[in-house]
Amino acid sequence: MAAPLEPQEKLDQIVQVIANNMVAEVCSIYVARAGDILELFATIGLNPEAVHKTNLRVGEGLVGEIAARGAPLNLADAQSHPNFAYRPETGEEIYHSLLGVPVIRAGRVLGVLAVQNVTRRTYTEEEVEALHVVAMVLAELVGSGALIDPDEVHRGTFAQGHPPKIDGLALSDGIAIGRVVLHEPRLEVTHLIADDEDAELSRLEAALEDLRISLDRMFESADLSLDDEHFEVLETYRMFARDRGWVEKIAGSIRGGLTAEAAVQRVQVENKIRMERVNDPYLRERLSDLDDLANRLIRHLMGLDEDLEELLPGEMIVVARNLGPAELLDYHQADLRGLVLAEGSPNGHVAIIARAMGIPVIGQVEGIVGLVDPGDRIIVDSGTSQVFLLPTEDIVAFYEEAIVAQERRKRAYVKHRQLPSVTKDGVDISLRINAGLVADLPQLDETGADGIGLFRTEFQFMVGATFPRLSAQRDLYARVIDAAGDRPVIFRTLDIGSDKDVPFLDRPREDNPALGWRAIRMGLDRPALLRYQLRALLAAAEDKPLHIMFPMVTEAQEFVTARSILDRELKRHARMDRNPPSDLQVGAMMEVPALIWQLDRFLPLIDFMSIGSNDLMQYLFATDRGNTILAGRYDVLSPSALTVLKQIIQKADAAGVPLSLCGEAAGKPLEAMALVGLGLRTLSMPPAAVGPVKEMIRTVDTGKLQNYLESLIGGLDHSLRAKLTDFARDHGVDV
Ligand code: PEP
Ligand code: MG
Repeated sequence: MAAPLEPQEKLDQIVQVIANNMVAEVCSIYVARAGDILELFATIGLNPEAVHKTNLRVGEGLVGEIAARGAPLNLADAQSHPNFAYRPETGEEIYHSLLGVPVIRAGRVLGVLAVQNVTRRTYTEEEVEALHVVAMVLAELVGSGALIDPDEVHRGTFAQGHPPKIDGLALSDGIAIGRVVLHEPRLEVTHLIADDEDAELSRLEAALEDLRISLDRMFESADLSLDDEHFEVLETYRMFARDRGWVEKIAGSIRGGLTAEAAVQRVQVENKIRMERVNDPYLRERLSDLDDLANRLIRHLMGLDEDLEELLPGEMIVVARNLGPAELLDYHQADLRGLVLAEGSPNGHVAIIARAMGIPVIGQVEGIVGLVDPGDRIIVDSGTSQVFLLPTEDIVAFYEEAIVAQERRKRAYVKHRQLPSVTKDGVDISLRINAGLVADLPQLDETGADGIGLFRTEFQFMVGATFPRLSAQRDLYARVIDAAGDRPVIFRTLDIGSDKDVPFLDRPREDNPALGWRAIRMGLDRPALLRYQLRALLAAAEDKPLHIMFPMVTEAQEFVTARSILDRELKRHARMDRNPPSDLQVGAMMEVPALIWQLDRFLPLIDFMSIGSNDLMQYLFATDRGNTILAGRYDVLSPSALTVLKQIIQKADAAGVPLSLCGEAAGKPLEAMALVGLGLRTLSMPPAAVGPVKEMIRTVDTGKLQNYLESLIGGLDHSLRAKLTDFARDHGVDV
């Protein structure tokens, strides 16, 4: 495979080598082509004239059957097989035995590799295995697009036994069923060289003007409840269309003799090469915005700016390699059900906008663009981070029910939002939401939550184009406090680092970033960062209650230092004749196990504490919270984890320090039930979880639950999940 040969020559050699090694009279390679056809691409033993002429339909003949089933055939007497198809042009009838394996890549059959012998022989397991290995290597060659047009690759049927679902990364929550709309079929620029430079320059000018007008129109009509942050994202994008550097480069290429569309494409290619080299996620996003704009400009130049909406089916799921935020807005929002991206990251602008629109998105779905055809039925499930291609009716029915149930529950929760969050035996449980953006604020009223238990301030830093100025920080905090009214808001200071990267902050490369320089550690080492944030918080909360919480505190001394920085800021605030907060509460997150053994000395120093179970479990079980291989291996509902939580709860209660839990566990009804059983009375969770958790609260009896948990917590179980589920069922608790 490594030999410096043309792809076809490689195939010719491969069949030769295999035939020699397996002492087979025939070795052939078929490649799947558009229209479910298998074309003979190389052979030893069959008539060489048949190469590139013999075509079998998938399902036709033995080779077709191998492709259709996606499974090997090992036959001593091939001709007696009912599916044997006689092809006179290949001279096939004199061979008796056949061994064929499918060439599979990413679940799709790309071709078939087969050997045949004159004698009736059964091929050994080793031979079957060897052929599989060669087929695997062949799959890479075909998949690379070296043999057939890349657009044709992967278009074959799915291999049986390979469930047509692909894993990705959930970038925006929800479930959707729809039909594939392949984003932006490739633009083919055929007219490259121009005679009249001036004419091309004026075409460019006119197309740019059209582009700007259409962008303006699009943003004005965007039916979004976008806050400033999101709007800024779109605004930046619109500014690119006016970027002189970009326009000048294109004009330069026109002066070099290219047509306007070829010039745009040339600059686009250059930009793409840069994109490949750039590691910085922020810059990559900007460069992909430019890529998006270039495509738009070419469409205008080619007169292709037809109304996308008219071309699209009712329930669409857009599939793309990547997408710009404006491109997403191009699709009629009422018809758009979901988005699947081969690339994409949680911080990407398209993900941020999709979340604001409430559209589920799965990103990092490798090879997705090549795996689907327009109009294919497809399911997006953020719960499992999976995309189902061509799902069976059973799967569709299952998901249809899930969607109906989800909608029904949503409606029911809206109705229940005014109901108190009280258990059957009369215990009040405070339910709060986790938030981070202005867009989350309406959720306070929509869910009926009684406060923001965790405001992740780093989100403002993650989505912004530049470091947020003091005034921008202050304005955001003031808006949050305003929106919350009488309800408390717990502002957590910057928790940057590990998986939460901020593009404009230079951080060292770390082998174990989750154990690295993050959160309060960074704040203490870069006190200006922390000081500015505290200053902004104090400015936003004059005469109002203010809760400040420090993340990832590992030892009491860190809190003492952070608190002293806050005290200095308070003094400065007073010196400037500003009013202090009406009530200042300073707390910490319990996320690092070491702090548990310092609680006796630590608790008297703080006004409140919140358990960050996401990180606490990660450190407790030595298990990266983002590692999918280990996801589900350890359980927060295990006796050990629950024992630790119980100890923390008891210590906090004894010290009279208000305690809450704001990790993901609080938002899952079963987990939340266990937490209430352990004695927690305040939970903070993603807004969508408030309804389901309140249902649970209103149907549980804490007394019975507590006794039951006590009896289990000392056991040897890997997890108490099953037992707690039984308890919920037996006692009518709605989890
Ligand atoms: C946690 O660790 O549980 C937590 C709430 O913080 P984050 O998820 O933001 O790290
Ligand atoms: Mg955390």
